[in-house]
Amino acid sequence: MTSAGSAPDRPAAAAARRATRQVDAGGVTIGGGAPVRVQSMTTTRTADAEATLAQIRELATAGAELVRVAVNDDAAADALPGLVREARVPIVADIHFQHRLALRALDAGIRKLRINPGNLGSREALREVAAAAADRGVPIRIGVNRGSLHARYAQQGGRDMPGALVQSGLDEIEALAAVGFGDVVVSLKSSDPQEVIEACRRFSRICDAPLHLGVTEAGTLRAGTVRSVAALSVLLAEGIGDTVRISLAADPVEEVLAAWHMLSALGLRQKFARVVACPTCGRVEVDVVALAARVEALARDLPADRVISVMGCIVNGPGEAKAADLGIAAGKSRVAIYRHGRIVRQVAKEELEQVLREEIERLR
Ligand code: SF4
Repeated sequence: MTSAGSAPDRPAAAAARRATRQVDAGGVTIGGGAPVRVQSMTTTRTADAEATLAQIRELATAGAELVRVAVNDDAAADALPGLVREARVPIVADIHFQHRLALRALDAGIRKLRINPGNLGSREALREVAAAAADRGVPIRIGVNRGSLHARYAQQGGRDMPGALVQSGLDEIEALAAVGFGDVVVSLKSSDPQEVIEACRRFSRICDAPLHLGVTEAGTLRAGTVRSVAALSVLLAEGIGDTVRISLAADPVEEVLAAWHMLSALGLRQKFARVVACPTCGRVEVDVVALAARVEALARDLPADRVISVMGCIVNGPGEAKAADLGIAAGKSRVAIYRHGRIVRQVAKEELEQVLREEIERLR
């Protein structure tokens, strides 16, 4: 399995990615030069298989390459075989405390486990889970989270939270290594973007396990996106990070879209056509805000290398249109349509919706 879209992925090496080991989650490779993977998590009750499957499909359609589900009880574990069978992306099981549920999830065919080895109970329980994962070729993500950091790191966390996150991650890797398991991905999350940056930087200097990046509990749609992208883009631009999840108190589809826009802006991967839209000003001749949103929706399935510009007047419209496959520049009474920099039509504003559909269709 490769990326979720038809988009060209830049080879990860081109962006001087940090060299990491590679794991394979049901055909989706993470680390070791693979493209930076986009993932998200369902918000439905996993036991409600119908609703969960519907959301997995929505997330996959938006571009999630892996989807995680909470497996917090037996009813959730009961739903897993059906989800694994029906979903077209690998399912990751998120397990806390009950190693028995991890074993059930592995039996159900999940392709990656997210656990915190420190809270699975005994060393024997950890050994059992690691052996079952190894038998099935399933990697394990060690999810270190500031909010659930073990008490033994509390003192260090008080002085140096990034250091405590890193130490916890290293200790968890060691705990798995001690039972013979090394196929790991690590995340070091905090709701503080600066702690995430610092922890991941330090970790990446001393360990080559692939890193899953995220700012946990980042916040609502706008604030959470900004906080997440602020941290993750710094790390990705430094070549750090092998898979990303943007955690929002919002529809998880927004997480996936934000992640793809971030990767695209950083030149790492592209999934969607780029819509250039002016911010509007007192010269604007059409409702650019609505128009740009409409164009973005219509262009969702276009090849990722297409560029469409939506400009509110003729001041910058022609210039932007030159660099676009399709340009729209509003004038007083009519709207100029450009193809590759040349005006091909001048249409009345009432005709615009129909013309847009036709012109976007031509870009396929
Ligand atoms: S393109 Fe025209 S309307 Fe849009 S911001 Fe520039 S000057 Fe204003």
